[in-house]
Amino acid sequence: MTSSLQGSGMTSPRTRERMVARLAEQGISNPQLLDVMRKVPRHIFVAEALASRAYDDDALPIGYGQTISHPYTVAKMTELLLENGPLTKVLEIGTGCGYQTAVLAQLVGKVYTVERILPLQRVARSHMYDLLIKNISYMHSDGGWGWADYAPYDGILVSAAPLEIPQMLLEQMAVGGVMVIPTGVSGGSQVLKRVTRTASDYKIEDFGKVSFVPFKSGKEQG
Ligand code: SAH
Repeated sequence: MTSSLQGSGMTSPRTRERMVARLAEQGISNPQLLDVMRKVPRHIFVAEALASRAYDDDALPIGYGQTISHPYTVAKMTELLLENGPLTKVLEIGTGCGYQTAVLAQLVGKVYTVERILPLQRVARSHMYDLLIKNISYMHSDGGWGWADYAPYDGILVSAAPLEIPQMLLEQMAVGGVMVIPTGVSGGSQVLKRVTRTASDYKIEDFGKVSFVPFKSGKEQG
């Protein structure tokens, strides 16, 4: 790794190690996940002026009114997604700066990621290039439609909160597949949910209150 990827001072491997120790204290226990979060240089995903805060448990602005998810949120969602075993094909809605995508891609076979704001996705792609992470396909689209070409998915992870779980995403889940998604009004009472598709139905579990940016329809060129 080059020195800017590796980090120094407030962005050093030691700072990352402290972030991972905090995640473990907060109850994150998947060893592979903790290992990946120890390695991914979170500071490159935020503006240089904010790099020293990249490992705080905070949501930081990434431009276009969007935020990078808290480390704990990324960890919790990924852990919930992977709890029932390894996944080969995962659809992610809301690439944003790509931090969650980079973590996910190192734990599953392949990630299909959809973002509605084109410049954000371009920046995410360039980070993945720098990090040599290649098992990702990108689409600039409204994630409410999912990505039918590669469905069904054994995992779906959504990083923005719709009011209700989009029907198209439910349809694109494989039987036995899992979706982790926040729902509800932003700034109000959003809840993190895990949906598991069974042969005949969908089982829904709640994992408490969360705070995400709203899931919006349509797409923006930036
Ligand atoms: N996973 C990201 C979180 C980014 S914030 C990270 O680790 O940083 C959520 C992202 O979801 C924003 O970039 C926003 O533009 C995107 N988003 C919101 N609604 C969407 C939709 N309908 N389709 C695709 N992306 C959407």
